[in-house]
Amino acid sequence: MTAFSNMLAPLDLGFTTLRNRIVMGSMHTGLEDRFWNYGKLAAYFGERAKGGTALMITGGIAMNRQGWLLPAAGTMNTYGDIINHRRVTSAVHEHDGKILMQVLHAGRYAYHPFSVSSSSVKSPINPFKPKAMSEKLILQTIKDYAHTARLAQLAGYDGIEIMGSEGYLLNQFICSRVNQRTDRWGGSVENRMRLPLEIVKAVREKVGPNFILCYRLSLIDMVPGGNTWEEVVTIAKALEAAGINILNTGIGWHEARVPTIATQVPRAAFRSVTARIKKELKIPVMASNRINTPEMCDDIVASGDADLISMARPLLADPDFVNKAAAGQPEAINTCIACNQGCLDLTFSNQRATCLVNPRAGYETELVYVKARKSKKVAVVGGGMAGLTAATVAADRGHEVTLFEAAADIGGQFNMAAAVPGKEEFQETIRYYRNEVARTGVQVKLNSKVTAEQLAGFDEVVIATGVKPRTPRFPGVDHPKVLNYPQVLRGEAEVGQRVAVIGSGGIGVDMCAYLLEEHNQSVEHWAKYWGVDFEVQENGLKAPERRFAQREITMLQRKPGQKKMGAGPGKTTGWAHKALLGQFGVKMMAEVEYLKVDDLGLHIRVGGTEEHILDVDHVILCAGQESVTDLIPRDAEGKITDRRYHVIGGAKLAGELDARRAIREGAELAASL
Ligand code: NAP
Ligand code: SF4
Repeated sequence: MTAFSNMLAPLDLGFTTLRNRIVMGSMHTGLEDRFWNYGKLAAYFGERAKGGTALMITGGIAMNRQGWLLPAAGTMNTYGDIINHRRVTSAVHEHDGKILMQVLHAGRYAYHPFSVSSSSVKSPINPFKPKAMSEKLILQTIKDYAHTARLAQLAGYDGIEIMGSEGYLLNQFICSRVNQRTDRWGGSVENRMRLPLEIVKAVREKVGPNFILCYRLSLIDMVPGGNTWEEVVTIAKALEAAGINILNTGIGWHEARVPTIATQVPRAAFRSVTARIKKELKIPVMASNRINTPEMCDDIVASGDADLISMARPLLADPDFVNKAAAGQPEAINTCIACNQGCLDLTFSNQRATCLVNPRAGYETELVYVKARKSKKVAVVGGGMAGLTAATVAADRGHEVTLFEAAADIGGQFNMAAAVPGKEEFQETIRYYRNEVARTGVQVKLNSKVTAEQLAGFDEVVIATGVKPRTPRFPGVDHPKVLNYPQVLRGEAEVGQRVAVIGSGGIGVDMCAYLLEEHNQSVEHWAKYWGVDFEVQENGLKAPERRFAQREITMLQRKPGQKKMGAGPGKTTGWAHKALLGQFGVKMMAEVEYLKVDDLGLHIRVGGTEEHILDVDHVILCAGQESVTDLIPRDAEGKITDRRYHVIGGAKLAGELDARRAIREGAELAASL
């Protein structure tokens, strides 16, 4: 049997057939909001269709002004809007893919003052209080959905997805959490589901039978006032009867205090809820959330848990996911590590989404790798993320590349990241580069601390030597109690029970997780501590079990502002890091001055006045990094004196170093050599 034959099997929807089971789920890129970006959006989807994805779903497009997620968000409500969207649908159809337009009404998640909802109940994650929709506005909104669906059909879409989950408007009607109405749109489940049902009926009437209607239904709300499983089943069956073709799985409201897609969520954690709803329905059902490998996709389809697999971020990370799986080369896939740093963190900062491990995502027309006109001898010094990207892209373009790495293996800082419980996925990126290095023919020289003389014969020299940990200056910093983070994360030091962590950046937070958590990617383990009830007896939540902290940790920083400590840098994941440290009872101290370390422990002054001694076994330095620049030939003013030299990643700038910048710099440089 061919590899991954289950996920690669076509799916007959009656009037149309999907070529396999892989769907690119909706993901807001920011490109859909401005008409001048539709060429870029077309290239983005076109590449994924070319890569074998059967069906794609656009980012959310509103049907009217109240439905906008942000001011002037992408809207489809005039015939003029069709022109831009045709560019997208043509690009997908050119490669035999199919595409749905997602119709999204943000409801009370709308970040603008004219937001509306079922009732005037403010969301905890949005400063704007919505107005309760009048009967007239509800009826108009139903018409708007139908009109938008018809325009999507005229624009060449194969169907639409109605966004009814993650806490957006239709979810706000369906759940009593927000819906406090006493008219025919509120109260009983029959009344609460009236709006989505009326929308489905109105859309179906407008577009006819041969147009895919997918509905994303929240199967597990994970917020107080969410639906019970009985209610979810009632709604799903009613949607099926009203004429939808596919039911997509929605997981948790955006305001839920359970992470649903972050890297610490085990793979396919929610497949069981999809499997349960599938048993209740006749139409195809789609699984989603934290599914990122062809092995997992195939297993879900084979076991009958779902008919289709929705993956958004994994297809951002690798547009050729399906073709590589079909070619029997899953090891060649650039796996999404669920970090959110290149995609959702940017989307939620109003920037264009891309991908940490694939800087071409969203930039398909701008970051282009073309064959080099002349093959050059290129030396890359450093086998971390920046160096690996530069080396493999340059070699792929036809250059003769030698990569020098001082350590015994490639991967740099990612080796340490992968050691942190909940960050096991980072190992996948190292596996991907191992494969890329072999595929592109990069010559790797490990354990090679290269000298300037050895670099003399190369046409281009890429310095990607990265960073070394910063050692703060205070008395006793060389005391045996003091360790730096690489010593700990590489397992080179035994760490005691009472620990002070100096620094509260990403690495300080990771250090706490490393010292407190165990590596356990089982769904049961994760669900127990986050209080997830897959049975959905009430709303998908149950009392979480208390964590047992095997260490007493105090995390410190010099800056004032304790409130934000423990979140790390992730905009969309910071709250979950903070919650985890809270579960383990990590103490936070801000505005700290480090006085000294001696046998008694860490002596500190807090807030400029109070002096304390933290009686700890170890003080772990997570105080940021400094660039490793030894090999860079510079003049007295700091200018590089040899034009063959290029500096990227941490070696260029240690502050604000992150893997996203390192990989992007490596790719951009290699594209230009
Ligand atoms: P960082 O984010 O710059 O944090 C450094 C910490 O050390 C700060 O809390 C800082 O706080 C403290 N510090 C700086 N200089 C100090 C000094 N001289 N003495 C004592 N304390 C000092 O650096 P990082 O935590 O090492 O992370 C490095 C990069 O990797 C960051 O860009 C980060 O975004 C990225 N990263 C990301 C993740 C992730 O999950 N997304 C995880 C790990 C790392 P005070 O100055 O207030 O003391
Ligand atoms: Fe996945 Fe991170 Fe890329 Fe987003 S940025 S698609 S989470 S690897």
